[in-house]
Amino acid sequence: MHFDTLALKATHQADPTTGAVVPPIHLATTFARDEANELTGPYLYTRPNNPNREALETALATLEGGAVGMAFGSGQAATMTLLQALSPGDHVLVATDSYYGTPALLEQVFHPWGLTYTRVHMDDLDAVKQSMHENTRLVWCETPSNPLLTITDLLTVARLAHDAGALCVCDNTWATPVLQRPLELNCDIVMHSTSKYLSGHSDVLGGALVFKRNDEFAQRVRSLQSLSGAVPSPFDCWLISRGIKTLGVRMRAQMATAQAVADFLDGHPSVEKVHYPGLPNHPDRALIAQQMNGPGAMLSVQVNGGAAEALAFIGKLKLFTRATSLGGVESLIEHRASVEGPNSTTPANLLRVSIGLEHAEDLIADLAQALR
Ligand SMILES: *Cc1c(COP(=O)(O)O)cnc(C)c1O
Repeated sequence: MHFDTLALKATHQADPTTGAVVPPIHLATTFARDEANELTGPYLYTRPNNPNREALETALATLEGGAVGMAFGSGQAATMTLLQALSPGDHVLVATDSYYGTPALLEQVFHPWGLTYTRVHMDDLDAVKQSMHENTRLVWCETPSNPLLTITDLLTVARLAHDAGALCVCDNTWATPVLQRPLELNCDIVMHSTSKYLSGHSDVLGGALVFKRNDEFAQRVRSLQSLSGAVPSPFDCWLISRGIKTLGVRMRAQMATAQAVADFLDGHPSVEKVHYPGLPNHPDRALIAQQMNGPGAMLSVQVNGGAAEALAFIGKLKLFTRATSLGGVESLIEHRASVEGPNSTTPANLLRVSIGLEHAEDLIADLAQALR
């Protein structure tokens, strides 16, 4: 089955009691027992499970080709719960260029708690190999990376992780399963911020983990999800399931516009550099062709000058909204270094762009007037 059909099939269940084509939202926190004190259905209490969450988790596992999916209240809650399943003394390898919250959790929460970690450029495979320790349990990849859109060779990094006895996790938020299926590239776990493309409308926060195998480690994470309760509300699950129905069409349309915008910016006299996997000068072209079905709808642009020039440029934009986050139907632009703060390693003249569903010609005209 093609992805679009799979996405519809995975999120569409007519309600068996009413025939409603759209599933109801089950707000109940608790579920009744019969005269013999037996539960009347498979649910007990909404923290461990709820019909809307179960439907979303099953859909997520289907889309990523995994054995089991788990939904969380945010991407960070998913990362937090996965890291909590490790033990003090374990070591984690994390990409240098990654969503800033991932190493921030390692540094601020898990380092004091006894985890050690090393940051490494995932495109330097020798460095990845050298950085594996005896106690390395997890290798955390994110590709395309944030915000420089470098590509990690998932098949090779997963092999290096397995050789060292570690699990390989891929944050697949930017690519989505439309463009990249890490479990088919031998990764063990996929992580998502469903706040982004999967929900797609910048109106719900969520996170997800999908495990290739429903093994002891996956069950440990499942039990932490239920015990610690960083779970999404039934309404949030319903919204994310609704977003998944249009993921394929949204991604293809946004990607075509991102390609046109990147082509326009690349070579513009006011632009120093464009980072976009769809440009012919991207250093990882071969890898992109091998592991992705397309370059995605995120790009970064470095304008001539520094922070002042970058901020002056985005101040003149009329169609792009100046805001953090990504993956919605409206185009967003942000000065990443301002958001990440003083410890940021992001170039001061870099702007991260999330392309939405506006017409490419209108977005390009807006960029052209602001760069003039
Ligand atoms: C947004 C994001 C996260 C964090 O997700 P939240 O839902 O904001 O907690 C993690 N990874 C990537 C790549 C993201 O873009």
